[in-house]
Amino acid sequence: MDRQQEFVLRTIEERDVRFVRLWFTDVAGSLKSIALAPAEVEGAFSEGLGFDGSAIEGLSRISEADMLLRPDPSTFQILPWRGEVEPTSRMFCDILTPDGEPATADPRNVLRRQLEVAADMGFTAYTHPEVEFYLLKSEELGADGQPRPVDHGGYFDHVPGGVGQDFRRQAVMMLEAVGVSVEFSHHENGPGQNEIDLRYADALTTADNLMTFRTVVKEVALQQGIYATFMPKPFAQHPGSGMHTHFSLFEGDRNAFFEAGQEYQLSQTARQFIAGILKHAPEFTAVTNQFVNSYKRMWGDGEAPSHVSWGHNNRSALVRVPLYKPDKGQSARVEYRGIDSACNPYLAYAVVLGAGLKGIREGYELGPAAEDDVWSLTTAERRALGHDPLPGSLHDAIRAMENSELIAEILGEQVFDAFLRNKADEWDAYRHDVSPFELNRYLGIL
Ligand code: GLN
Ligand code: MG
Ligand code: MG
Ligand code: MG
Repeated sequence: MDRQQEFVLRTIEERDVRFVRLWFTDVAGSLKSIALAPAEVEGAFSEGLGFDGSAIEGLSRISEADMLLRPDPSTFQILPWRGEVEPTSRMFCDILTPDGEPATADPRNVLRRQLEVAADMGFTAYTHPEVEFYLLKSEELGADGQPRPVDHGGYFDHVPGGVGQDFRRQAVMMLEAVGVSVEFSHHENGPGQNEIDLRYADALTTADNLMTFRTVVKEVALQQGIYATFMPKPFAQHPGSGMHTHFSLFEGDRNAFFEAGQEYQLSQTARQFIAGILKHAPEFTAVTNQFVNSYKRMWGDGEAPSHVSWGHNNRSALVRVPLYKPDKGQSARVEYRGIDSACNPYLAYAVVLGAGLKGIREGYELGPAAEDDVWSLTTAERRALGHDPLPGSLHDAIRAMENSELIAEILGEQVFDAFLRNKADEWDAYRHDVSPFELNRYLGIL
């Protein structure tokens, strides 16, 4: 047993922990949880905990249904919302095959593998997400058939007496209590829309933190009698919820994206990384934007990117290079603005990093930055400037991903197939639906 495992066992004993929840994530990004009695934790560390993987989306074929969960002791936390006395705790788990090998179907393992690719190239990858979400009065729709936001505030608004403030205060405190550091939080553009930005951390920790974040935000909302949603586009007429993420690569303690004196202080490595993302974005969009509804965000105004472009300070760009002072080279980073708040963060970070790393390995060339608002150009102008459209629907995104060798390699065959199967089912269900839009538009006139 290693020191971290011993620390967990000792804490369980000292704090009189009643339940230890083992957390893992399925292919679609849903958090799964098994509650374990404290006495079983030692065995779970040494041998893993057996469970039936075939019941979990994308996890295993029926013939190899038995999988093992091995808790990662570095992720041990007491869950404050379950109370102080005889508390509940949790650990994220890696999924193993029955013979103890890392399961290729485990999304956490997909990201780990990509981080190993980065490490082999000499890099550590850091990420900093800005998570947007809506606060609603409840899950129930209003009389007008629309969700009911908790307020009518806008960007950075301070809504007097608003529930949003109480909510953010409580959520940020709860997040800090489970070890998720918050950089800042504010009201976003849409009514009831909020944003909370997490402090940067290595990509695996960030992905774990995002799973915790969603749980905390949902729990705190419930405690306050409201409802939080990460749905990418709940309102046609208001902006969607993006999860812009800032990426940086470090070589030892040096930021590999920084080079003083270059355009935007971007190193060659950073330019190749951006070029890799731009080239492969259409292929991985199904992963970063995985729902039918995701495409209503990207093609529905509201500062969400719809075309491949990059820019220095251009909010229509898919990749944005934020401003920083020349002496702040360590904070050099690139912001990928395509991802939405409902993605599987392990898979989304794996594909964006994988595409960027490929750009570095193969020395891709980066074209000029977009100076214009890409939305205001005509189609012909965009084509001339090389601003290709991202997939316009889940269907188009699936088609683009199906043919991608790179995404198959990053996800591994099992996740690649399971993900595409899951998304094809969703598209099929959507395709068969006759929507209120169609009834309103055609029934009275045709
Ligand atoms: N809500 C926008 C999106 O979906 C982002 C708005 C912003 O933070 N500038 O990407
Ligand atoms: Mg922001
Ligand atoms: Mg924002
Ligand atoms: Mg941003």
